Parts: sequence; C-alpha cells; structure tokens
Amino acid sequence: MFGSRIIARRLAVVPRRWAHSHNPSTRPPLSSVTREDVEHFSKILPSSAVLSTLASETASQAELEPYNTDWIGRYHGKSTTVLKPQTTKQVSEIMRYCYERGIGVVPQGGNTGLVGGSVPLKDELVVNLGNMSKVRSFDPVSGALVADAGCVLEVLSEYIAPHGHIMPLDLGAKGSCMIGGNVATNAGGLRLLRYGSLHGSVLGLEVVLPDGTILDGLSTLRKDNTGYDLKQLFIGAEGTLGIITGVSILTPPAPRATNNVLLALPSFDNVLPLFKKARQQLSEILSAFEFVDRTAYNLAVKHGQGKAMSEEEAEGAECFILLETSGGDGKHDEEKLTALLEDLMGADEPLITTGVISQSPAQFASLWRLREGVTEAVSKEGKAYKYDISIPLASFKEVVDTTREHLRKLGLLREDAVKHVLGYGHVGDSNLHLNICAASYSPEIETALEPFVYELTASYNGSISAEHGLGAMKAHAIHYSKGGVAVDLMKKLKNVIDPKGIMNPGKVLE
Ligand SMILES: Cc1cc2nc3c(=O)[nH]c(=O)nc-3n(C[C@H](O)[C@H](O)[C@H](O)COP(=O)(O)OP(=O)(O)OC[C@H]3O[C@@H](n4cnc5c(N)ncnc54)[C@H](O)[C@@H]3O)c2cc1C
Repeated sequence: MFGSRIIARRLAVVPRRWAHSHNPSTRPPLSSVTREDVEHFSKILPSSAVLSTLASETASQAELEPYNTDWIGRYHGKSTTVLKPQTTKQVSEIMRYCYERGIGVVPQGGNTGLVGGSVPLKDELVVNLGNMSKVRSFDPVSGALVADAGCVLEVLSEYIAPHGHIMPLDLGAKGSCMIGGNVATNAGGLRLLRYGSLHGSVLGLEVVLPDGTILDGLSTLRKDNTGYDLKQLFIGAEGTLGIITGVSILTPPAPRATNNVLLALPSFDNVLPLFKKARQQLSEILSAFEFVDRTAYNLAVKHGQGKAMSEEEAEGAECFILLETSGGDGKHDEEKLTALLEDLMGADEPLITTGVISQSPAQFASLWRLREGVTEAVSKEGKAYKYDISIPLASFKEVVDTTREHLRKLGLLREDAVKHVLGYGHVGDSNLHLNICAASYSPEIETALEPFVYELTASYNGSISAEHGLGAMKAHAIHYSKGGVAVDLMKKLKNVIDPKGIMNPGKVLE
C-alpha cells in the first residue's frame, strides 16, 4: 500500500529536480596547502596553533586524524594542516591569505556534526575554532550573551546558570559542540519546542568573510529593522559563506521548576492524541515532547544510556514519550502534570500503559540520558546511516516501517548488513531521526537507502534535513526539499560572498 503511494507522489518530485538549472562552475581548482603556506601561517599564529604534516615536527598524520574524521566515522578528509587561531584578527589574516592563494578552508567547531560537513573532502585547510573560547560579555538583565565561536555549549550553560539563565538550545552533543558550530548548523535540539530556533534567538554575529573582511554584527539589540538581516544568511550556512568568530545570543531566564516523565505507549497511534492532550492540558509549561521507538529504547538500554523502567513495565510498549514541563511555580506545574497523568491512566482506553515520573534531579537527568543517549547507543551498536527528516507527525511510524520493509525486500535486513531500523526525535517539531544501523558502511546499503529515503520524504512534502544540515552527505539531494529557483538564488549568493569557492567546498551546494 505504501509503495504505490510513494510512486504516485514521486512523479510530483521529479519536475522540481528538472527545474533546477545546472550552472557548471568555471572557477579555477583550489590550491593545496604547501610548506611555504605553513611557514606563512606560522607567522600569524604561535607554533602550538599550527598542526601540519608538511612542517617537520609539528604534527603526524595520526595527530591530524581526529580533525579529518567526522563524529560517525563515515567521512575521512586528507588535510595536511590544521590551524587553531585564538583571535578574530588571526582568522581574518588566515582567510585573506587563503583567498589570495585559492586554498579551500573547512571551519570546524566540536566536530560533532552528523552530515560530514565539518571535515575536508580532500586536503582543504582545517580552521578549528577550539582556541577561541572566551565569553565576551553577559547582561543578566536582558540575558544577552556574547561569546567567542569556540565556546562549548555546556560551558556556556554553566557560565550563565548562576545568573539564573539557560541557553535557548540543548542537545546530546552539548559537552563537545561549540556555539559557532551550533549557529553554523542552525542546531535545533531539545528546547526548540519552547524557545524556538536560532534564527530567533541569535541577536548578532561576527563573521570573517572568505576574503578576510570582518563583518562586525555583534549586536545585542532585540530589534533592528535597518534593511537586510545579514546574520540570518550565516545561520545554517554550514561554514560555506564565512567563519563565525563571535555570537551574540539571547538566553532565557531559567525555569524555576522542571519535571519530566517517561511514558510507555502500547501503540504508535496513541502518540498524536497524547501530544494533543498534553498540549491542551499543560499548555505553556510543556517544554519538550520527545519520541523514542521500541528499537531505539532497547538500544539505549543495551548500551547503558539509562534504564528508566523495569523490563516488566516496558513490556508491550511500542514506543515511548519523554515529556518535560518547565515553568515558574513548581506546585502549580506538578498539579497540572499529575492531573494529566491521572487522566491518562484513568481513561477507558488509556493512551499509555505506564509512566515513570522523576523524583529527584538525578532521576530527571537519568530520564533525559535515555533519550539523549540514543545517538551514542546507535554508534556503539554499529555504523549509522542517519536521516534527519521533517515529516507530518502522523507518518513517523509509516516512514520507519516502510524503510525497514524496503531493506527486508532487498535481503539486507540481516546481522551482517542492516542490523536495525529505528526512529526517534522531536515530536513537538515534527522531526524524525530515522537511523539505519548497519554492521559496516557499504555501497550496497547506501544504494538501497539513497535516493529511496529522500524520495520517501519528498512524497510527504517533508524536508530531507530538519536540523542537521546538508553537509557533504546531502548536498546532492537539496532538490528534494528546495525548488530550482531557491537553489539558483543560493548559488548566486554563494558566488557573491565567496567568488572563489574556498569556503567549505562540496558542502551544502555541490
Ligand atoms: C550525540 C549528538 C547529538 C546531537 N543532537 C542534535 C540535536 O538534537 N539537534 C541538532 O540540531 N543537532 C544535533 N547534533 C548534530 C549537531 O549539528 C551538532 O552537534 C552541532 O550543532 C555542531 O556543532 P559543532 O561545534 O560540533 O560543529 P562541527 O561539527 O564542527 O561543524 C558543523 C558544521 O558547521 C560548520 N562550522 C563549525 N563551526 C563553524 C564556525 N565557527 N563558523 C562557520 N562554520 C562553522 C562546519 O564547517 C560544519 O559544516 C547532534 C550530534 C551528536 C553527536
């Protein structure tokens, strides 16, 4: 049944791909970094900030490996040189030189990106922002935080916590990812339902453009209607338009009370009614509504990412929802949550089989660990093909099941090929993380999955990238989610800002 529906909708997708006008680049090829270039970089940066296999004694290929390999181990670059500047001026000098020489540059933050955007495709220069890690200012009244791009998200959270503020975004990679990388990928994460996207909370950016010019837009104003809002271009550009060196971001006051509860659902069909009910009854205090299917739950438990329920309690559950409330009055919030749970359990046809409510900060963290730990659990179990898609909420299960069935029919659903097909994600934002966990990366599995998953997504008028970006993985597939006019305009903008095509080549736009 699903098959015929997909084929029928596929036809509607094809013309959009044809509509794209191919505009082959006439740019000269990019230059490789030479020994002379490294000598030049050593005049800009202290020796400890230049890692290169070209200059004797500065680094071995093995030492460059972590900068050349992405988080899921699927993409491997061949960069000979990594620079770790400490100031915006240094970044500017590096870029001016690279622009003149036509050297490709890959900006890198915590290297936790999941679409192969943060590592070179060939031997581009890596500019790692990890040494730019100072908080520049924080205003506890407005909540405006201005920080270097290399500040780790969790470190920023800890910095503002004593002032009663939180970061407007939170994700499983918070201990490693950096605020510049978050902005460059327009990271969504676990708080988007409550605080919206970075397109709303970023107040200003400092960006070094490909030719070394510094675009100083570190405003802390909430309102500034003076023409084009240039910062928006760099939010989600994945390092293809410039290097973000500073971020001004609005941090909300920390909620005074937070609660979370893990609910076991007998059927996926109950997710939508449950979401509707939770929104109605909890209204303004509902801050997260996260979905974990049975396979994802089992993997999280297997790989020690927290165990929320006993096996008996979890038995019979087809999926799980992690629901969080946050508000200003603990008693009021608890009453609302308790009333919801009583209603759920007392109903003639209960939407849930059971639930575990956290009783302490440790339990609160443990429930979150189960949800946040799915990504890590999948990578411990095998090699992950990760599809991060936006589709109507009602189709989450259908998409996971259709993909599994497709792989089964191809004979690939077996221990030495595809081990698991699973889904989890941010229900509140209609964002499904469809993961295919394989024994190893193989061309056979890749061919089975692509363009299948993209066509499936497009058949629901969905987006092939809800929050992880396009990177190297999906640059070729942009047409499934964007029309030809939009892609052409993106290419024109790229050409204006980066006429030599040195910024993160091969990412976002082919
Ligand atoms: C366990 C785990 C959980 C995750 N959960 C989520 C989630 O819930 N939601 C979500 O949206 N994402 C999630 N991600 C992926 C997410 O994109 C990254 O974790 C994060 O936003 C990237 O930050 P980073 O500093 O690691 O950037 P990197 O991985 O280093 O880079 C990512 C991209 O941004 C570019 N870039 C990095 N820094 C800069 C800069 N200063 N200027 C210009 N370009 C730059 C790179 O070139 C690359 O294209 C998760 C990843 C992991 C590993």
